[in-house]
Amino acid sequence: MRELREFYIGGRWVPAQSELAHEMVDPSSGRPIGTVALGDARDIDAAVAAAQTALSGWAATDPAERIALIGRMRDIYAARSEEMARAISEEMGAPIDLARTRQAPAAMGHMTNFLEVMRHFEFVSPLGCHAPDDRILMEPIGVVGLVTPWNWPMSQVALKVVPALLAGCTMVLKPSEYAPLSAALFAEIIDEAGAPAGVFNLVQGDGDTAGARLVAHPDVAMISFTGSTRAGHSILKGAADSFKRVALELGGKGANLVFADADAEAVERGVRQCFSNSGQSCNAPARMLVERSIYAEAVDRARQVAEATVVGPSHEEGAHIGPVVSGRQYNRIQSLIETGMREGATLVAGGPGRASGFTRGCFVQPTVFADVSNAMTIAREEIFGPVLSIIPFEDEDEAIRIANDTPYGLTNYVQSGDGDRRKRLAGRLRCGMVEMNGQPRGAGAPFGGVRHSGGAREGGRWGLEEYMVVKSVSGWG
Ligand code: NAD
Repeated sequence: MRELREFYIGGRWVPAQSELAHEMVDPSSGRPIGTVALGDARDIDAAVAAAQTALSGWAATDPAERIALIGRMRDIYAARSEEMARAISEEMGAPIDLARTRQAPAAMGHMTNFLEVMRHFEFVSPLGCHAPDDRILMEPIGVVGLVTPWNWPMSQVALKVVPALLAGCTMVLKPSEYAPLSAALFAEIIDEAGAPAGVFNLVQGDGDTAGARLVAHPDVAMISFTGSTRAGHSILKGAADSFKRVALELGGKGANLVFADADAEAVERGVRQCFSNSGQSCNAPARMLVERSIYAEAVDRARQVAEATVVGPSHEEGAHIGPVVSGRQYNRIQSLIETGMREGATLVAGGPGRASGFTRGCFVQPTVFADVSNAMTIAREEIFGPVLSIIPFEDEDEAIRIANDTPYGLTNYVQSGDGDRRKRLAGRLRCGMVEMNGQPRGAGAPFGGVRHSGGAREGGRWGLEEYMVVKSVSGWG
């Protein structure tokens, strides 16, 4: 059994002051695997005080020192990546191969990309030839509070901690209570890399107690949050009294527009992408919009892919999808599947109940609904499980109208052989990211959305600048 009772504050591991605790449960077996202490306001206050004390020193360091720290972290992380993959797999149920090949390495990728950004980043730059004595300074915003989810735990942690460190901020990380193991290991890595005391602090905890205190704390200048739209809404309100900057990465309900001239693998790719990480990705293409002339064929192909999708336990090697994170998520997904059936969508594959062969654990059946209308609950709500909704469309205008008819706006997808159409659609889709013909976004591309998906940008120079304040100075010399 794992017992996590200490937080990393002021450069050392200290016992939790709070008595609160959360039971960690293996999503594959439903059995308890340990306990994590959940911090309260006292723990958060101690961590913020440590970050506040360290701020002036860290903000004044030469950027080369900060770059060197990330370089050392990357080396240590690489050496401990198997340990990290196991921690992620154990805590949130990612199959071990997915954890090894995508979940754990994501953080390495972010470190490499941000180091690349730093090679060209100017902390002091001229305004322009018309004003030779003006300078624009990019300064760290101060103490930042970082709140992360469990679904891509290390990717999310690295996307915040690494640019915040490079910008010269000090910080308190509050990871998800469902992903405490990877965060604790990450803190060990930062410690081993020699970050000065108080620059990085970790307090485990839930949203209502530790999260809410961090959001309200008067000495925290900014909250960077990734998680549900519901929590993002409450954080925006909670941060208002202290005028914090709030960077939000929230939910999504991505549309995947499949036209008749799409390549032969488009439908299969879309289904696999929707089911990847057991459907637990904010940018999952959860609504597949298919042009009417290829609709019947596409539904049949989606059924075949879903039926061929293997579900298996997290610790087993292989390309299967794993359980979803918790019993609570499992029950929510079951209820949404039942709602889809009740509202009249056609169940093509999967459905309610555990995936075949399982009598316990959070194993959802890979599920496909066809004849979905965009007004149905399964087309409107983020399900966060391996559940795909297929919706027919007649022409480009209707496809755009359906795709944009959502409060979210994170990633949309386009499958079409017509380059002019792709460019047109990239402009008309209301979202922060568009991925076309199966081509993933390049390293360091900004990640983020619009509207209820939140407006933050993570990755690349955009993700670094989130942690900075622009200062305009005249009379420089
Ligand atoms: P969640 O909102 O329940 O929790 C996320 C984090 O916020 C956790 O650390 C939680 O403890 C904390 N939290 C919850 N309520 C809070 C509050 N009122 N104040 C402060 N902190 C609070 O989300 P989750 O279930 O952990 O993650 C899944 C959600 O995250 C999905 O909606 C998904 O789309 C979203 N997500 C978005 C992105 C993105 O980049 N846009 C990436 C990954 C996940």
